[in-house]
Amino acid sequence: MEVNLLQTNISYLKGVGPRKAELLGKELKVFTYMDMLNQFPFRYIDKSQVHKVSQVNDDLVYYQLIGTISNVQLVGAPRATRATARFSDDTGSIELVFFKGLKWIKNRFKPGVKYVLFGKASEFNHNFNFVHPDLEEYHPNDPLIGEGLQGVYNTTEKLKDNGLGTRQIAKIQRQILQLVANLIPETLPQHLLQQEQLIARKHAYYQIHLPSNNIEIMQASRRLKYEEHLFFQLRLLRAKKRRESLKQGYVFESVGDYFNSFYKDHLPFPLTNAQKRVIREIRMDLGSGHQMNRLLQGDVGSGKTIVALMVMLLALDNGYQACMMAPTEILATQHYATLKALLGDMPVRFALLTGSTKTKERREIYQGLEDGSMQIVVGTHALIEDKVVFQKLGLAIIDEQHRFGVEQRSKFWEKTERPPHTLVMTATPIPRTLAMTQYGDLDVSKIDELPPGRKPVQTYHLYDDDRYRIMLFMKQQIAKGRQIYVVYPLIKESEKTDMIALQEGYEALLRDFPEPEYKISVCHGQLKPEDKDFEMQRFITKNTQIMVATTVIEVGVNVPNATVMVIENANRFGLSQLHQLRGRVGRGADQSFCILVTDHKLTPDGKTRMKTMCQTNDGFEIAEVDLTLRGPGETSGLRQSGQIEMMIGDLQKDGPLISQVREAALRLLNDDPKLIKPENRMLREQYKVLFAQAFDWSQIG
Ligand code: ADP
Ligand code: MG
Repeated sequence: MEVNLLQTNISYLKGVGPRKAELLGKELKVFTYMDMLNQFPFRYIDKSQVHKVSQVNDDLVYYQLIGTISNVQLVGAPRATRATARFSDDTGSIELVFFKGLKWIKNRFKPGVKYVLFGKASEFNHNFNFVHPDLEEYHPNDPLIGEGLQGVYNTTEKLKDNGLGTRQIAKIQRQILQLVANLIPETLPQHLLQQEQLIARKHAYYQIHLPSNNIEIMQASRRLKYEEHLFFQLRLLRAKKRRESLKQGYVFESVGDYFNSFYKDHLPFPLTNAQKRVIREIRMDLGSGHQMNRLLQGDVGSGKTIVALMVMLLALDNGYQACMMAPTEILATQHYATLKALLGDMPVRFALLTGSTKTKERREIYQGLEDGSMQIVVGTHALIEDKVVFQKLGLAIIDEQHRFGVEQRSKFWEKTERPPHTLVMTATPIPRTLAMTQYGDLDVSKIDELPPGRKPVQTYHLYDDDRYRIMLFMKQQIAKGRQIYVVYPLIKESEKTDMIALQEGYEALLRDFPEPEYKISVCHGQLKPEDKDFEMQRFITKNTQIMVATTVIEVGVNVPNATVMVIENANRFGLSQLHQLRGRVGRGADQSFCILVTDHKLTPDGKTRMKTMCQTNDGFEIAEVDLTLRGPGETSGLRQSGQIEMMIGDLQKDGPLISQVREAALRLLNDDPKLIKPENRMLREQYKVLFAQAFDWSQIG
């Protein structure tokens, strides 16, 4: 029955009533007292002071004023586009501006009545004004005035116009807490509260809405975030366990001749420790009896390809076929060439299957895959066509996963009676927090070490007007026998102007680097695939020294002799793209360089991106910065199923807390998989409340 009070309809609260209640439901999905308490402040403001109009002298600063409103006027003819009014106290007056709710504005303010104004000042024509400030009738014993820290709440124009601005919401919160704070039930067991030093739930709700100081805010928000992340992690882990228990996988129990003889006789270099560790992790999966679903992260150049090959050999050792899919024809072709070179004279039958494989050869490949004589196939999307039938596909490797969706991954599953083990390789580093959430269903292995002897790429940010220096530098490098990429952005929305920029850049280069001394390749999305390949091949075979391109080269090409990457209009690229592009150089033993070219007009974000690139070569660090600049949903191609909505938790900013929570969740489930121990009863109860439909513990193995 305690719970019932918390579920009281908000319309019963004094001062709310059915009309406001309906609006709260519509605009904020707030129906009950508890729903309201779950509207957390997104910021706090020191409201201990009441200012005077004469003190308003700064842009973007919050002020709290008390005064009267007069002279309400509609501006703009024939249809008013805004309204203005004067706000006055005994020190002067200041303009108020409204763009919405103009219909009612004339009657909204009573003459001679005092209002409390709260809002940010803006500067306009050397005067200050307030645009859509919070306004409320002033009462001498207003509990919020003189109060130290006051929460600022989400609201909408509609709510504001109906007396539900942030101040009014703050008051409602106070009212509710006075009624029910003591009834808010605990959801986390005592042992967890103690171990993690969390305050009680009811105290947390009180302090988050009515803090006396910053420490209280911190304690409260940590507790509430912890709780939200914990249930989220419990759910993810449980889902993962369930999948694991359902999906039987092929068992690769033996390490046989293919793997061993490659390891002994064909390895061109010693593996790095990170490569060895990752192969061990994968072998554990393959022998476990569950289907592997693993994400292999490794920065560009970290050596994922050889790991892929060795894992494929394990499949062969156990009598299965393996395939490897790449996003572009160039990349698939390159993988095929790499495999060929690495395997040498080993008796392995493998083939390349792409859109341009000739019909006769294609038929032979299909045949070989179907009868099992073809052991490995490397290719593009052509691999997932229905015509491709495997006799016994045990392993699917997908390179550069951000180009493939989950759906394409699952295509392979239809090709066999059981889903094959899947290894997804990506050079796009996935920040920890995202790996733990969006990718909660994939196990993650990391190659966090580059092969020895690599010199970090030196990165410089230069401006348009440094072009002469850049040209001299390029000539120097070419004189040393090196090759150079010059990359232009190509964004769909502005494709035309982008193509013009590339064309002009190309022509300028032709003038600065004239034939026959110099030769330049050019490669962009509007070329036919065979022309693209031709231009690419000319560069790979060192027939040209410069490759002018759009981002088509972003993924995977390996030309170790290329030592300079010039990125034009670098500010138009996101951080992870810049990092991918830079990864095209620094693949050989020579010192490599990346030159970011921009004009002088850079946004603050743009500056941060350039600075980050110049400061670090670490893909993970870059991904973290990228995440804070862009938010989790945006990070390239990482959007998976279902957006995650949190009330107070923040997947972007709570990284360290999430790790801590995840560990606690793992411990809890290890110790008590179904959460049936008496001390964990609360968790189980709350889990049921939160995930009512999804609840089915019996599925946990
Ligand atoms: P990526 O992870 O970007 O796919 P690759 O697999 O293409 O990287 O490897 C990049 C380069 O590093 C290749 O030329 C490869 O031969 C080389 N390489 C990979 N592993 C090692 C190692 N352990 N020692 C030395 N060179 C290596
Ligand atoms: Mg690669």
